[in-house]
Amino acid sequence: SSCSTGYYRVPVMGAHGVGKTALENRFMTSEYMSPIESVIDEFDERKLTVVVDNEESTMEFMDLLSIEHDDLVADAYVVVFSVHDSDSFTLAEGFLQYLRNELDSDRPIILVANKIDLVRKRQVTKEEARQLAKEFECKYIETSAVLNHKVDELLVGLLKQIKLKLNPE
Ligand code: GDP
Repeated sequence: SSCSTGYYRVPVMGAHGVGKTALENRFMTSEYMSPIESVIDEFDERKLTVVVDNEESTMEFMDLLSIEHDDLVADAYVVVFSVHDSDSFTLAEGFLQYLRNELDSDRPIILVANKIDLVRKRQVTKEEARQLAKEFECKYIETSAVLNHKVDELLVGLLKQIKLKLNPE
């Protein structure tokens, strides 16, 4: 059977220090996981090619600290904040507002609450984060890049959202 390919650009947005690099590094060293059949290639640090449903997908991740960037055209967006840093949550809200209201993007967005291992330092509750995700029609996931908790789920969920957007059932 034939194998089609897709190339997806995914900006990873969020404040400095929330764990964007740590999450991307985890993506790149991800074990094969359902539904990902294989990891074909890691061209360079920021591009990852995987096979899902006999279809090759390459995702290119870009770190973005601010919206002052001239190339925000993308297939999906990952907006990251750290649960122990309420300022990073405020900035995440700014990114969501920008993407949905100013850029008027209808692309999939995943709001990522990272560093959930820092339980006792947590400043942003699950409830308020979920509420924000709902308001801007985003998926929401809580991760820990350090513990490698839910990082595979984030990657798989991202691909799923991209494919759903392309082929709505
Ligand atoms: P970036 O600026 O968003 O790319 O953030 P980095 O990936 O460079 O991470 C900033 C710091 O946070 C580093 O010291 C990481 O080790 C740490 N870090 C990243 N993810 C986590 C996490 O899930 N939990 C904890 N406790 N620390 C993390």
